[in-house]
Amino acid sequence: MTTILPPPSAVQSIMEHVPIGVIVFDANLMVVGASRHANALLDFTERDLIGIPLHDAIAKALGEEAAQNLGAHVAAVIQRGKPTTWNSCRLTAGGGQRFVDWEARPLEVAREKGALLTMIDVTEREQAKKTIAATEKSLRLFSEAVLDHALIMTDVRGRIMDCNAGAAMITGFPKEELVGQPISIIYSRDDMLAGVPEQEWKTAASEGSLAHLRWHERKDGGRYHAHGTITAHVLPDELPCFTVAFRDTTEAVRQTERLERVSAERKEAIKTLTTANANLQQFASVASHDMQEPLRMVTSFLTLLRSRYGGDLDAKASEYIEFAIDGAQRMGRLIRSLLDIARIDHGEVALQEVSADLAFEEARKNLQQVVIETSATVECGRLGAVYADRDMLIRLFQNLLGNALKYVVKGQRPRVQIEAIDQSGMRAIRIKDNGVGVSPADQERIFDAFERVHGRGEYSGTGLGLAICKGIVQRHGGTLTIESEPGSGSTFIITLPRKPAG
Ligand code: ADP
Repeated sequence: MTTILPPPSAVQSIMEHVPIGVIVFDANLMVVGASRHANALLDFTERDLIGIPLHDAIAKALGEEAAQNLGAHVAAVIQRGKPTTWNSCRLTAGGGQRFVDWEARPLEVAREKGALLTMIDVTEREQAKKTIAATEKSLRLFSEAVLDHALIMTDVRGRIMDCNAGAAMITGFPKEELVGQPISIIYSRDDMLAGVPEQEWKTAASEGSLAHLRWHERKDGGRYHAHGTITAHVLPDELPCFTVAFRDTTEAVRQTERLERVSAERKEAIKTLTTANANLQQFASVASHDMQEPLRMVTSFLTLLRSRYGGDLDAKASEYIEFAIDGAQRMGRLIRSLLDIARIDHGEVALQEVSADLAFEEARKNLQQVVIETSATVECGRLGAVYADRDMLIRLFQNLLGNALKYVVKGQRPRVQIEAIDQSGMRAIRIKDNGVGVSPADQERIFDAFERVHGRGEYSGTGLGLAICKGIVQRHGGTLTIESEPGSGSTFIITLPRKPAG
């Protein structure tokens, strides 16, 4: 029990200025002294508290029931001589509300027993507590809502202090099995034995954060790939803690692995194909070049045979010699076309601005004999200039015009119209005929080597002309397409650049 005997003037000054609520009661629980602050807290600004019973002093701000309770407790404090405290009691004063921590202590003054009741205003602390609780709640709701991310908090030694539902979902461990465990629980056995978790936590502590990117083991032993960040949080006056946030990236990693595998296989296949293609081109070029000489011998000796001994042979033998000469000549044309293809694909090109009108005129002249023989009409509009190799351009026009004059409907005079338009930086040249046409099903394959739609009996040819044409336009960065309906003629459309690329 405390005994105090301060001078009355000092008591008065203290009561006036002390920043806490202080009320002194006598043994009958009547207020014998009160600080100014107590008056304010208990909403007694109009009247003085002194001379009022405890119940009346506090009931206004505390409420009837709580006032009775407190009264009983203060009485017990005086009786037992032991202090008591109550925390965060709500007071309503002046329309607002405040929270106070109470403490009642027994008091003895000049052998008179009583009690000292102190009230400390803790409203701000309570409000801060409320704000923290609300923040914690929203953080918790937020982290629980993030199911596709694991959020784990550990202490400085890597022991799990808290985690969200996402962590349980991804790792396969229920939350209660994670909390309290070392973080190594989520690592694979090998990483755990190699001390990877400790290493990562150490690095995160020294660097501040660390990218977390590795394969882990789930509770059931299954593997998953995780990608995230370990962050060290160092707050003043607090032990450091760590958060690790990661997501399951297994599917993305597997997809990347699959794509890499496919891309490597594709690269390998392209390499093999390119080599095979180059070898084939080389072979075709060498073979066709070397075949020309013996073929020339066959043709010239057959021709010699015909001129020297033609008269001595019977009709059958002469016919056979004609067939042989025809075959040898066809083979000669084939070999020359094959050599052309090899040259177009791999030889030099002399690109320059060329008049397509002059190139077409040149091609037409080369075919003048056929034009006359077939009584064809060839109408050519203004074609303009293109950026091309002149000889190749003439070859291109000659092949296409030659076909237009060849694949004609029996009994009909060929009519060929050529015109050109500009098409986004390119010149599109259309060669339209009134011939037999090509059915849509065959339109793609006619550009491949040796593909012939119309039989050799009806129309002569090697099946290489359009392949050469396609090779030429491709070398120039252009295109060659066909629009046709059987019986309604065909239009071959060439596009070629008007200017050098770039
Ligand atoms: P070919 O030496 O047989 O003429 P091409 O490669 O020039 O070889 O043509 C391939 C095939 O495309 C021809 O056999 C023919 O069936 C078809 N073709 C080409 N040009 C025309 C055309 N103007 N009209 C109809 N068919 C054509």
